[in-house]
Amino acid sequence: MGARRRQTRATLAVLIASTTVTSMLIVPSAAAQPSLDDQLAAAEAELDAAQARLAKTFQAFATADQRHKDAAKAAQAAAGAVTKTRAEATAATEHERRTRLEFDEFAAASYQQRSSIGSIRAYLGAKSPGDLLDRASMVRVLAGEYVDVMDTTSKAVDRKSTADRQAQSALESAVTNRDAAAKAKTEAERAYRTAVDIQDAAKAETARLAERRAQLSGGGSGEVVLPAQGTFTSGYGARGGAIHFGIDIANSIGTPILSAMAGEVIDSGPASGFGLWVRVQHPSGEITVYGHIDQSLVSVGQQVAAGEQIATMGNRGQSTGPHLHFEVHENGNKIDPLPWLRGHGINL
Ligand SMILES: [Zn+2]
Repeated sequence: MGARRRQTRATLAVLIASTTVTSMLIVPSAAAQPSLDDQLAAAEAELDAAQARLAKTFQAFATADQRHKDAAKAAQAAAGAVTKTRAEATAATEHERRTRLEFDEFAAASYQQRSSIGSIRAYLGAKSPGDLLDRASMVRVLAGEYVDVMDTTSKAVDRKSTADRQAQSALESAVTNRDAAAKAKTEAERAYRTAVDIQDAAKAETARLAERRAQLSGGGSGEVVLPAQGTFTSGYGARGGAIHFGIDIANSIGTPILSAMAGEVIDSGPASGFGLWVRVQHPSGEITVYGHIDQSLVSVGQQVAAGEQIATMGNRGQSTGPHLHFEVHENGNKIDPLPWLRGHGINL
C-alpha cells in the first residue's frame, strides 16, 4: 500500500513536472504567434490609425498650402508697395536736388548781377529806392527762404526715405514668411505622401489577412459559390408570423443546385417541411442546407467540391413554387446566408 502510494505520488510529480515543462515550452511560442483573427484585428486597427493620420496630414497640407498662397500674395503686395515708395523717395530726392540747384543759380545770379536786383526787389515787394535792400540783406532774405524751403524738401525726402525703408523691411519679412510657408508646405506634402504610403500598405496587409482568413474558414480552398442561379424571392427573418431561417432562390424545376462550399454530405433525402433536402458539413464547421429539391444527386458520406452539383431545384414540401431554400448553420445557429455569402465575395 505504502509503496504504491509513493509510486503514485512519484508518477504525479513527474506528470506535473512534465506538464509544467510542456506549458513553459508551448506558451511563449503561442504568444509569439498571434492567431489570424488577432493579426487581422491588429491590421484593421493599424488601417484605421493610418486613415486617421491620412485625414490629419491632408488637412495640415491644405492649411499649409493656403498659408503659402496667402504669404505669396502678401509678398507680392509688399513688393508693389516698395515699388511705389521707392519711386516717391526718388522723386523727393530729385525735387530736393532741383530746388537746391534753383536757389544756387538764383543766389549766384543775384550776387553777380545788379541788374537782376530789380526783379528780386519786385519779388520781395520793394516799392521805392528807399526800400531797396542792399545786397547783404537781400542775400540774408534769400538765405532765409533757402533754409525754409530746403528744410521742407529735406523733411519730405526723410519722410519718403523712411517710408521706403519700412516698405523694404516689410517686403523682406514678407519674403521670409513666404519662403518659410513654402518649406512648411513641402514638408506637409511629404508627410501626406508618407501617410498615403502607410495607408496603402495597411490596406494591402488587411486585405491579405482577410483573404487568408476567408480561405481558412472555407476549409482549404476557401471557395464559395452561389448555390443556384435564379431570382432572389425571399430573405432571412420574420415572414408571415414565423421566422424564415434561410433565403429563397427561384428558378425552374431541374435547375442545378450546387454545394456552396467543399464538404461532406451529411443528409440526403426526405425532410419535414422541405420535402427533400441535402445537408453538407464543411471543414470550417458550417453546415449548408438545400431544401425543396426535386432530386438529390449525392449520398451521405460523399465528399463534394465547391460548385459541384448536388441536386436539382424542385417544389416539394411546403413550397408555393419551384425554388431553392438555402440555409447556413454556424456553431448551431441558423445565420442569415446573405451577409455570409457577401463575406465570401458572393453578391445576390
Ligand atoms: Zn425558404
